[in-house]
Amino acid sequence: MTQTAASDVDPTPSTSREEIDAAVARVRAGYASGRTRPLEWRKQQLAALVRMLEDNEDQLVAALAADLGRPPFEGWAMDLRLTAREIGELVSGLESWLAPEKVKVPMLFQPARAQVVREPLGTVLVIAPWNYPIQLLVAPLAAAIAAGNTVVCKPSEVAPATSAAMARLIPEYVDPAAVAVVEGGVDETTALLDRPWDHILYTGNGTVGRIVAASAARHLTPVTLELGGKSPVIVHSDANLKYAAARIAYGKFVNAGQTCIATDHLWVHRDVADELLRLVEDEITDRYGADPRSSKDFGRIVNSRHTQRIRTLLDAGGYDLVCGGDVDLDARYVAPTVARVTDPGAALMGEEIFGPVLPVLVYDDLDEPIKAIVSGDKPLALYVFTSSDEVADRLRDETSSGGFCVNDVMLHVGVSNLPFGGVGASGYGAYHGRWGVETFSHRKAVLRKPSRSIDAPILRPPYKPWKKWLTKKVF
Ligand code: NAD
Repeated sequence: MTQTAASDVDPTPSTSREEIDAAVARVRAGYASGRTRPLEWRKQQLAALVRMLEDNEDQLVAALAADLGRPPFEGWAMDLRLTAREIGELVSGLESWLAPEKVKVPMLFQPARAQVVREPLGTVLVIAPWNYPIQLLVAPLAAAIAAGNTVVCKPSEVAPATSAAMARLIPEYVDPAAVAVVEGGVDETTALLDRPWDHILYTGNGTVGRIVAASAARHLTPVTLELGGKSPVIVHSDANLKYAAARIAYGKFVNAGQTCIATDHLWVHRDVADELLRLVEDEITDRYGADPRSSKDFGRIVNSRHTQRIRTLLDAGGYDLVCGGDVDLDARYVAPTVARVTDPGAALMGEEIFGPVLPVLVYDDLDEPIKAIVSGDKPLALYVFTSSDEVADRLRDETSSGGFCVNDVMLHVGVSNLPFGGVGASGYGAYHGRWGVETFSHRKAVLRKPSRSIDAPILRPPYKPWKKWLTKKVF
């Protein structure tokens, strides 16, 4: 496979203001037409999205390779298959998740029936990032359609080949009265954010997340923010080290570390640190060979700005190199790197790395990583390798994170029954499976009284003393 990167691809064309206006007007009218209400219509659109991913597998995998040097299997598994599976779960669960939910009515209001009814929000905006540019556009789009909304979606300009593919294919497969794709960068996203929406789901970094939330606040638009951060992995002294090393290396080096739930940094117990790092090094060689640069299975950094950003983190020092460390700006290559942190203030420990560099901190007492985690931003994911339920439970209960996974990494995101989302600085709101349908629905409180029933005016004037006595008894 030829390893190309973003700069080799034509830049993303922008959607003009007029085209944006027309697209928004079209999908707003689409919502008003009522076409999105029938369950059957929603299922058809979801099935069409799956067909889009399957019919165009080769060109989509090629777009991911052009943008991110993604190995074909990785692109297929993480962007196409995972998304198709997520949509399949939506189709099979939808009817039961949307069924009106009966709730109890207090005696005082009887006879009556009460229900929670999920209704669509209207026309929503989905803004996607570049690192899993198909999955992170199409999965929220599918959840929004499943809940009966019409959608404008904005792929990331940083992955231009995939953005172009999405802009071409989505209207071919999905009802254009219900879904529009707007391409472009900051200007186009700002133009979209200037207007009112019924919901915005944004995936990306926290700085832009704050811009999105501030713009939305002007229109009282509710927002879901799927952000990132530094997700730690802890390897305790009683862990199965070989098993942990394989999973940590995968979590860090898949998509060249550009994964929001990547194992950002590693905390390892002193007793097993040397052995674990040796095993992680072996894993790197086993997976990518002695020269990972020539491996067909190792990706590239999305562009030179991000490659330079990672180089700057490495250049700042504060660690002993265990392996890797090479950066080639022109090739957008950063070697799989493991670095033993010697200065806790090292730049590598300051921001989310979002590249194939694993800083390692050693601890003697579990209190140390716990203290570090609770004193920083709440991570999107937290991983622990241990054979002890007490250790796992302590970490689960004494820390806060978007997700928590024991003896593996990233897998929790593939379980559609679990909500996927952050907490604190890693975002708010969630989707996947029924959680996505909840995000894009309004839970309407519905109370129905029969048109004729006994009338006991207990709460209405005149307020006689017996009314208070009776109200206290029955309410
Ligand atoms: P990005 O640069 O592609 O930005 C995301 C979107 O924001 C793009 O569509 C872009 O056009 C838009 N945007 C950029 N600047 C803007 C501005 N000033 N105003 C309005 N819109 C703007 O992606 P990124 O932010 O580099 O993505 C990487 C980050 O996303 C990492 O922090 C990662 O952890 C996080 N992430 C989170 C998840 C998750 O599901 N929680 C998934 C993937 C990535």
